[in-house]
Amino acid sequence: MSTDCLFCKIVAGEISSEQVYSDEHVVVFKDINQKAAVHLLIVPREHIISLNELDERHDGLMAYMMRLLPKIAKEQGLDQGFRTVINTGPGGGQVVFHLHIHLLGGAGLSGVGFSRAV
Ligand code: 5GP
Ligand code: ZN
Repeated sequence: MSTDCLFCKIVAGEISSEQVYSDEHVVVFKDINQKAAVHLLIVPREHIISLNELDERHDGLMAYMMRLLPKIAKEQGLDQGFRTVINTGPGGGQVVFHLHIHLLGGAGLSGVGFSRAV
């Protein structure tokens, strides 16, 4: 735990959040600034700053989170699919420096539909 980290405080329950799932490895809660009908953050309990700080000890955790994503999406009713985003470093738009995966889906998700270029 990093004492000055917002997500460590949320994981520890010191700051409240709208949790939808938690287990011994991760906590999943609603992003405070919803960018789509469903916008969740999958946050490992371990304080890892970003993808840049991963090493081989984290391989199991990362695989675990990847496999958890579709389960959470299904629970949220996202049967047409979902988007995942990981911002890394200031240049990648990261503002909270505790690794997290955005899970987005449902109404309001940008770039979805026939107008999508790529
Ligand atoms: P980043 O840009 O670092 O990938 O995303 C950080 C996310 O954390 C943002 O989408 C922001 O809305 C969310 N966030 C920031 N502060 C809080 C908070 O106190 N509670 C919750 N639930 N989300 C937060
Ligand atoms: Zn942290």
